[in-house]
Amino acid sequence: MSGSKEENFKSVRTQSIEFLKQHGFSKTEGRILILSILFINRGPLSIDDLKNKILNKINIVTIYRFLNALVKKRLIKKIYLKDGRDYFEYQENHHHHIVCRNCGEKEPVDLPIFEKILKGGVLGSKNFEVVDDHILEFFGLCKKCVCRI
Ligand SMILES: [Zn+2]
Ligand SMILES: [Zn+2]
Repeated sequence: MSGSKEENFKSVRTQSIEFLKQHGFSKTEGRILILSILFINRGPLSIDDLKNKILNKINIVTIYRFLNALVKKRLIKKIYLKDGRDYFEYQENHHHHIVCRNCGEKEPVDLPIFEKILKGGVLGSKNFEVVDDHILEFFGLCKKCVCRI
């Protein structure tokens, strides 16, 4: 069990190094660590989540700068979940989330047909030539919280 975990971590590290090279970032331990966490931990992560996982080894300004550079290049997504925090997620496949408004539990949702219809709606815009991004999240109560409230 521990052997496969270690192997897994090594391959994620290699993946992170390749990713940095491929997208023109210089290789630093901090960047490798941040990317490794984004690749392993599927789901939106706040700066606090990241800081906890990194165990405060990296300066917060460095974390922010790198995350924003990744967002600008559209390599990761910045996600807004109505709690005033910025979340960041590496998405292999485009998706959105359902979020529990009580405990913050998040579940990915994939809406290809719905998105196609929405895109059709904005294509008729009079003033926009390019519409290439959107924000779409859903909120509710998870099964655990619905029993307690
Ligand atoms: Zn979407
Ligand atoms: Zn909940």
